[in-house]
Amino acid sequence: MDVHAQLQSVWTHIITTHKPGTIEIMGSILSQIVGFILPATIYMLIDTLFPKFSQRHKIQGARRQPTRQQIQHCIKVSLFNHIWIVALQYIILYLRGFDHPILNMDPIVPSLKIFIVDFVFGLLAREVSFYYVHRALHHPRIYVYIHKMHHKYITPVAFAAEYAHPVEHLLANVLPIAIPLYFKGAHFLSIMAFGLFELWEAAADHSGYDFLKLPPAELHDLHHEKFRVNYGTIGLMDWIHGSDFVGWDRAKVKKVKITE
Ligand SMILES: [Zn+2]
Ligand SMILES: [Zn+2]
Repeated sequence: MDVHAQLQSVWTHIITTHKPGTIEIMGSILSQIVGFILPATIYMLIDTLFPKFSQRHKIQGARRQPTRQQIQHCIKVSLFNHIWIVALQYIILYLRGFDHPILNMDPIVPSLKIFIVDFVFGLLAREVSFYYVHRALHHPRIYVYIHKMHHKYITPVAFAAEYAHPVEHLLANVLPIAIPLYFKGAHFLSIMAFGLFELWEAAADHSGYDFLKLPPAELHDLHHEKFRVNYGTIGLMDWIHGSDFVGWDRAKVKKVKITE
């Protein structure tokens, strides 16, 4: 039996034995554990278990790393954000009824081609939406109320990916991943697969390590170190807007002055 047929048989079993709303909630919890909590814990353990390897591969110096207490605080807030999103999803499903899922629960598993198309669409749509939401959160009138919290960790660690104001967590972390594929009508399994990748990407982006070049952790690490640079996730929107190097905004001011 090929992989698709195996997946179809598992999916058929799941949808015939559980309510669609229950599958959505369980999918959401499982993807957050497998895609984020587990890899973030592994990244954090590298520090303790392999200190020499850790020193060689940390993007920022040892003296800049957060203290144990700061890390514990970071983990607590990050877990709170996971719970808040699951609670929100539960309330929506409770009001709709667990027989009326939010996502597409087609009994037929999508083909590999559809999985790939959804993945690429999700990646590009997330890059565009996250870039503008993130740029808006850096607006001086909004920054101190919401996004300043996420920038507490100048030298990030994996759990710092979800160390954010609950409103930011919803607007910048959850919706840019879920909403484009929701409106595209993507299958629940496609959204789960993309969500797993994006959650791991967020943990890797904030891990502080350079040994995984895909996704390029250095881009977002530099954003935490220098603030006004690399607002996107894969570098595409920063390349388009020219915000991909430190001092890009100062160069713009100078240019305006010279041409005036
Ligand atoms: Zn960040
Ligand atoms: Zn930021």
